This record gives sequence, C-alpha cells and structure tokens, in this order.
Amino acid sequence: MKNFFQSFYFKLSAIFLILLLLISIIQIVISFNASKKFHTVTEQSTNRALAKAMASEFEQFLTDSIDVAAIEHMIHYMMVINPRIEIYLLDEQGTILAYFAGPGKQLKATSVGLAPIRTFLKGEEELPIYGDDPRHPGRKKIFSAAPLRIKQEIDGYLYIIIESEKYDDAAAMFYQGFMTRTVVKGVLISVIVTGVLGLIFFALLTRRLHRITRVMQAFERGQLNERVPVEKNDEISYLAQSFNNLAESVVSNMEEMKRTDQLRRELVANISHDLRNPLASIKGYLETIQLKDTQLEPTVRQQYLETTLKISDMLEKLVDELFQLSKLDSHQIQPHLESFFISDLLQDIIMKFKPIAEKKQIQLKAELPEQLPQVYADIGLIERALSNLIDNALRYTDCGGTVKVKIFQEDQKIRVSISDTGCGIRQEELPLIFDRFYRVEKSRSRSTGGAGLGLAIARKILELHKTTISVESRENEGTTFSFYLNTWQHSNLQMV
Ligand code: ADP
Repeated sequence: MKNFFQSFYFKLSAIFLILLLLISIIQIVISFNASKKFHTVTEQSTNRALAKAMASEFEQFLTDSIDVAAIEHMIHYMMVINPRIEIYLLDEQGTILAYFAGPGKQLKATSVGLAPIRTFLKGEEELPIYGDDPRHPGRKKIFSAAPLRIKQEIDGYLYIIIESEKYDDAAAMFYQGFMTRTVVKGVLISVIVTGVLGLIFFALLTRRLHRITRVMQAFERGQLNERVPVEKNDEISYLAQSFNNLAESVVSNMEEMKRTDQLRRELVANISHDLRNPLASIKGYLETIQLKDTQLEPTVRQQYLETTLKISDMLEKLVDELFQLSKLDSHQIQPHLESFFISDLLQDIIMKFKPIAEKKQIQLKAELPEQLPQVYADIGLIERALSNLIDNALRYTDCGGTVKVKIFQEDQKIRVSISDTGCGIRQEELPLIFDRFYRVEKSRSRSTGGAGLGLAIARKILELHKTTISVESRENEGTTFSFYLNTWQHSNLQMV
C-alpha cells in the first residue's frame, strides 16, 4: 500500500484529480456569474418602461403641491402588489421626497446619485446600469426610472429599484442552496466521469511502464534475452526501444569482453608455448657447450652456436611482432600519412629480400610501372606489412619457385599484389590465416620461424589505413595477397 502511494500512477492520478476539481469549480463559478449577469440584464430591460408606466399614477399628487402622504400610500400600495420593487420619488438633486419603508423603518440614505439615472434615461448605454440603493448605501442595484414634473417647475424622478430588499433575502437563500447544490453536483459528476476515464487511461499507460520495468529487472537478474515489445510510436515506445538498444550493446559488449578474455588466455598460452621451446633449445645447446667444452669438435661447436643464434633471432622476431601487435591493438600507433611512390618503397624492400630469395633459388620479380600516382599512407607501417607478405611468400615457396610483386592503378587507388608459386593454402583455412597465432601447418611453420603473427600485423596495419587485405590461393599452385592504397588525390577528394 505504501508503495502504491509512492507510485508514479498514484502521483499522476492525484495531480489529475486535483486539476479536475479546480477546473470544475472554475467552470461552475464562471457559468454562475454568466447566468447572474444574464438574469440582471433581462430583468432591467424587461422593466425598462416600468417607471414610465407608473409615473402617470403619481402626477395627480404633484401638480400644485407635493401630497407626500398620498404618494407614500400609493407607493405602499404598488409595493404590496409587486413586492420585488422599491419605489422612491426624487427631486432634481436626487433627494428622496417620498418612499415606503414599513412601520418604524428608516432609510439609511437621504439621496440617490443622479448620474446612473440620467445615463439610463438617455438609453444609449448597454444594460445593466447600476444605481444607488438607499436602504444599503454602497450597494448597487438595477433600477428603472422616469422623469416627473413636480409643481410644474421642478424636474424630479420616479426611481424604482427592481430587486427589492425582500427579493434579495429570498434570492440569497435560494442562491446559497442553489450554488452549493450546483457546485457539489457539477464537481461530483465531472470528477466521477472524467476521473474514472482518466484513471483507466493512466492505468493503461503506466502498465506499459511496468512492463518495461519488469523486463529491466529480468535483464538485471541475468535474463539477457529479455526485450520490451515496441508496438507504438510514442515516448514510452522510444524508452522501450532505447532500453532494447542498450541491452543489445550490453550483451554485445559482454560477448566482446568474453572473446577478448578468451583471446588473452590463448595469447598467454601461445606466447608461453612459443617462448618455452626455443628457450629450452638455447639452454640445451649452451649447457652442452659448457659441459663438453674441450671435448666438442670445433665444427660441431660452431654448428651449435649458429643454431643458438638462429633461435635467438627467431625469439627476437617473435618478441618484436608481439610488441608491434600490442601497440597496434591499443591504438598506440597512429598512421602518419604522407605521399610517396610505392614503387620506390617496393624496390627497397625487394633489394632487402634479394639475398634470401637467391639463397632459396626463388625468382623475386617485380612489375612496378612508373608514372603511377603517389600513394597517401604511413610509409613505415606499409613497409612492415609488405615485408611480412614478401617474407611469407619466400618462406612458403619451394626452391625454383617465383614470387612476384605487382602494382597497378584501379580507379583512384593503387592495387598492390604479392603472388607466389608456393604450397598454397586450403580454402577452409583461408578465413583463419589472419588470426593471431594461426599457423596452417603448426610444425612446419614453427621450423621456418613463423609464430603466426605476420598476417595479423599486416591486416591491422591496413585496417588503420581504412583498407582491407584479400587472399586467393590454390593448394600446391600458389597464393596471392592483395590490397588497395589511396592515392594522394583520392584522399584529398574524400576529405572535401
Ligand atoms: P607465420 O609467421 O607463421 O608465417 P603468418 O601470420 O604470417 O604467420 O601466416 C599465418 C599462416 O598462413 C602461416 O602459418 C602459413 O601457414 C599461412 N601462409 C601465410 N602466407 C602464406 C603463403 N604465401 N603461402 C602459403 N601459406 C601462407
């Protein structure tokens, strides 16, 4: 119950009902005032000619002198016939000359303001026009008036208050009762009808909020597949949609974190494995050299030292690749783009690999047409990616094979391809070779010194250049790796 009073539904409903109550009261007061005004105007306009009609009755008592007693008798008589009115005879200053107040009763005022009477007689002003009430000074009443000739020289007035004191008392009682009944009835009806409908609508609206809350709580408890159905196109649906989007991104982040964690474990396992074996070999060779020292043939000793050095080189390469990859992963390396001729860079790289190719009797060919536009890339990173690819091509190509480096222009880009006539890669292995530590033939790759990081680094570098690397391969026929680089003009166009 306590929860209900704190609920959004309760607050919404309470505000709604209070507003409803206020609106009902304002509406009742406005319509009551309007009906009162309507009543006053119709009363005064229907009685506009009343004073004029009565004036002729008084003229006989005013011709030569003022017969106050006869006039007051007439006034009394007329007020008995019509108790709603009060009649006064006024002189030209507005002083009351005759009236009827009942036995022992006195008027509180001796005169009446003439300005409203004159306005009334002119007939130009809109009704209602209010005049003084001699029985209640300060109170204003609607009236009827007519001019009277007194003793043939004075301009007096017959002044009739339309709603008399008696009428006021009766009306006041009726008014209070009527007002209370109308207010209570009006408020009750509008509060019940509109209130019930409003509460039903609010319940329907908040039900959707409850549904979102339930789904959120289920999600919090670990039911990650829970989603809110989005049926409409309103704010609550936007909220539901936002929650669904949030839930999707939370789930995908969690999966990503799980994947990263799994990757990290594999990485540590791979690194330990890749370090342990070479280190054990180095230790073995060095221990043998130390133990046997003078007994070792100089040629064997030399052979041991060469092998140790080779393994150290391999370890150095592995550590360097790991370091490079971790820097690329953590975005510590950002490409410093500049324009340069890719053919010049390739010439240098080919020169570097020439001795290795010759040693393996592999033909290292290059097709580097001149007059190609400059590329816009990080020269150091691209050199690294190209070296990895050419190194692989030479490593996985047997004696007598060919490795060919080609560049050509396609649209606004330069395509670079490195193909070899080596062992090739099986189709099912192709999507995996760019994964870190992935080696097609574990033992063979290790013996050739590869740790399975070269292609991962190349792919990462090209990703930083917003381009991708593709591979085509046929087993025992050869492999081609290729990628595009932006030309300087194309990069500028994209920036515009
Ligand atoms: P590694 O250092 O072992 O060569 P890479 O990431 O460079 O690691 O390559 C991953 C795997 O892809 C290699 O183990 C190899 O089996 C295969 N591979 C890469 N380049 C070639 C190629 N040119 N020809 C045949 N196989 C290749």
